[in-house]
Amino acid sequence: MAEAGNDSDRLDPLSHHEPEERPAAVLTWLQQGHERFLQGHSLHPHSTRERMQAVIEGQHPLAAVLGCADSRVPVELLFDSGFGDLFVVRNAGTMSTTAAIASLEYAVGHLDVPLIVVLGHEGCGAVSAALHPELLLTPSLSQVVGQLRMELLQYGDHRSLEESCRRHTLSAAGNLVHSSVLLTDRLRAGHLAVVAGYYDLHSSRIEWMGDVTPVRYRGAGER
Ligand SMILES: [Zn+2]
Repeated sequence: MAEAGNDSDRLDPLSHHEPEERPAAVLTWLQQGHERFLQGHSLHPHSTRERMQAVIEGQHPLAAVLGCADSRVPVELLFDSGFGDLFVVRNAGTMSTTAAIASLEYAVGHLDVPLIVVLGHEGCGAVSAALHPELLLTPSLSQVVGQLRMELLQYGDHRSLEESCRRHTLSAAGNLVHSSVLLTDRLRAGHLAVVAGYYDLHSSRIEWMGDVTPVRYRGAGER
């Protein structure tokens, strides 16, 4: 049985646009899904076993998301999406680790995803730990938290948790792009956008913080 709903509409963001138009079209599609969630009108599309069966042979996600492992930030629910819609990478603290960068390069380079959302959130435990050097952590956690601490030190001391979470979200998005030649090239070609979002736990709303502009590298012969 075919799944009820507007499946064809949901694929429109990619089917009728030139490569340069796809990032903005997919962002609009995500924002519409989030708005349905906020209004309590989620359609829960692509959530059936039939849809799952339909994507067994191959995936064609519309967007990729780098988010936190935090249980209060379930990416598919926030964007009212289902099986095969989003390529989601999550780890504690929304970190642009080598594994995360590699995963997102796969999404962009092999699955042709035109949009990456880097989704930070209010009250992030990893960021909170970075603000409390007195905490005793395991070696692995110390590594992650130490990295966050170094990053936040760039912005000065005595920052609030909320401000630190926001700044880290922007840093994670920037680090992601500037650690990857593939992502930078796609961005410069206009075939990819990397957008930072901040999820407010109290309002359940994602605040869009803008997109990452790639660093301009000078080529031979350029002034
Ligand atoms: Zn978190």
